[in-house]
Amino acid sequence: MNAKDAGSDLRQNQFLEVQSRNQAIAAFTAALRPRPLGSEYVPLDQLVGRILSEDLRAAVDAPPFDRSVVDGFAVRSADLSGASQGRPVRLALNDETIHCGHDPALAVAPSTATPIATGGPLPRGADAVVMIEQTQATEDGAILVSRAVAPGQNIAFAGSDIASGQTLLHAGAIIGAREIGMMAAVGTAEAPVWRRPRVAVLSTGDELTPPGRRLAPAAIYDSNGPIIAAALAENGCEAVRLGAIPDDEARLEQAIREAHAGCDAVVLSGGTSKGAGDLTHRIVARLGRPGIVTHGVALKPGKPLCLAVCDGKPVIVLPGFPTSAMFTFHDIVAPVLRIMAGLPARQETMIRARVPVRVPSDLGRTEFVMAALAQDAEGYIAHPVGKGSGAVTAFSQADGFFAIEALADAMPAGATVEVTLFSAHVRVPDLVVMGSHCTGLDAVASALSRQGYTSRVLALGSQGGLAALERGECDIAPIHLLDAATGAYNQPFLGEGLTLVRGWRRLQGLVFRRGDARFEGRALGEAVTAALADPACLMVNRNAGAGTRTLIDRLLKGARPPGYWNQPRSHNAVAASIAQGRADWGVAIRPVAETLGLGFIPLADEEYDFAVRSGFAESAKGAAFLAALAAAREAIAALGFDPA
Ligand code: AMP
Ligand code: MG
Repeated sequence: MNAKDAGSDLRQNQFLEVQSRNQAIAAFTAALRPRPLGSEYVPLDQLVGRILSEDLRAAVDAPPFDRSVVDGFAVRSADLSGASQGRPVRLALNDETIHCGHDPALAVAPSTATPIATGGPLPRGADAVVMIEQTQATEDGAILVSRAVAPGQNIAFAGSDIASGQTLLHAGAIIGAREIGMMAAVGTAEAPVWRRPRVAVLSTGDELTPPGRRLAPAAIYDSNGPIIAAALAENGCEAVRLGAIPDDEARLEQAIREAHAGCDAVVLSGGTSKGAGDLTHRIVARLGRPGIVTHGVALKPGKPLCLAVCDGKPVIVLPGFPTSAMFTFHDIVAPVLRIMAGLPARQETMIRARVPVRVPSDLGRTEFVMAALAQDAEGYIAHPVGKGSGAVTAFSQADGFFAIEALADAMPAGATVEVTLFSAHVRVPDLVVMGSHCTGLDAVASALSRQGYTSRVLALGSQGGLAALERGECDIAPIHLLDAATGAYNQPFLGEGLTLVRGWRRLQGLVFRRGDARFEGRALGEAVTAALADPACLMVNRNAGAGTRTLIDRLLKGARPPGYWNQPRSHNAVAASIAQGRADWGVAIRPVAETLGLGFIPLADEEYDFAVRSGFAESAKGAAFLAALAAAREAIAALGFDPA
């Protein structure tokens, strides 16, 4: 449980009754009784994705007349009953040629034929069409036919495709190109469809900035607004974007009241926990009857979800964290909005997969865990990603999610789960890479993609990657591990059956803001001494288990200067913290320091290599990886690394 959850727990124990997921859904559904909002007629060219609200009948036949389906001659089949290669039958040609759109004027009399094009209406008297390939023109303007035809041959009869009065499409059909084609064929210009719910989308929070603007200090981009608008469109609703509203009671109340008056539903995000700045639920509580039906659901992520029905309209406050907002929307809100939109319940695709590691979980809350899929000889493997971090990027790495039931306090390693996929098909990447992340790796992934290979990189740290490789869960484990005893990188850490593909060297160094006299122009030893001598000098450390942490520990020789316990997990976080003045020095790789314009004192030339199973290089995947590595050499060098 993170600090925010712990804080809101204390308050919620006083104010709220936390409901189970099923209780919350039942209470919300009972108060709302969701149903489609009514029907409207929409022109043919705006129907894609809409849901038919009534059965649609054909007003005319398709085709509207008997027509030829080949190029040839309209004939009376009885004339040709004895025709063969040896004894062709001669037919005189009528003085008319039937093209598409030509209404025939002349009847086909016995022993005559009329030239007719594909799609041409059959003339009176004719009951079949012979293909042009089975005839021969004579010098005097007749034809010789060398094959008999059956009555009706090569003719599509009126109404044979769609008969007038027939039900063309049933209510509930989701309209796509094929359905539009059928309607057009019988002359339907507009169709009755369920009205799309107009759903107001409001983000709340002083810190929110719309994408496209510059970020002020301490501001973040509004991700929930765009996420929810897109999810609404995917679920048959029309999003009405009302932007991000600051935590100001009067402004927020006005915005929510306007949204409630002008739309069929309101989806807010943020401000659901009961902190000082969190007002949303108070405003929603006085918006209309019966008001809030659920505030606090035993779901993770998503506990602070607030569900209300105000004068017949749903008003939902999603949690602020984008991943929480997205999960609660799909699990609890989307099913209700789909009913209002006339859409059937979403078809979920589930697959069974093995979870390779133990996943701790809170007792008493249904927990959703995002998972990246891989595959081995025994089946699919579901690797938890981004758990509890609130990271939006976890969605791009994940293929789906699985649930840990409220009654469990953990999912044991090796458990089998049902993974609900985010898309209809499993797409396991060709190459699964788990281990230490480096920006240079992105260049290799791009080169792989140009060769038509998909790859996925999960940052598990060097040790985590090696363990996953040994368990057979990934193809490649990028590592940079220093053996303190020998000073050698990586090779000493390989277990049996593993081998190393050389990657690149990267320069690690002490990073500081330019102009800081404690570091600028100094040698490494002096700089560290100066930092340790100044009690006001704040460092930023790295997480235990990181290769960089080993370097830092060697620099500090057991010292614990201020900032030591600040231990982020990436080079970028270290550099950001120094650039923004929250810390004065740390250790990171040079390209990251350069990007932020920071000073850099070289410390160690580190080797970043790829652990793989023996024989990998000989496999098709292995060959593709080696080729990508070679192809990415220049790009890797341009990023500031030194390829092997
Ligand atoms: P709140 O529920 O308002 O206390 O917000 C919880 C967390 O979610 C805070 O870190 C917010 O900054 C973040 N958050 C709230 N709304 C959004 C949003 N629209 N986009 C991205 N993050 C948000
Ligand atoms: Mg907020």
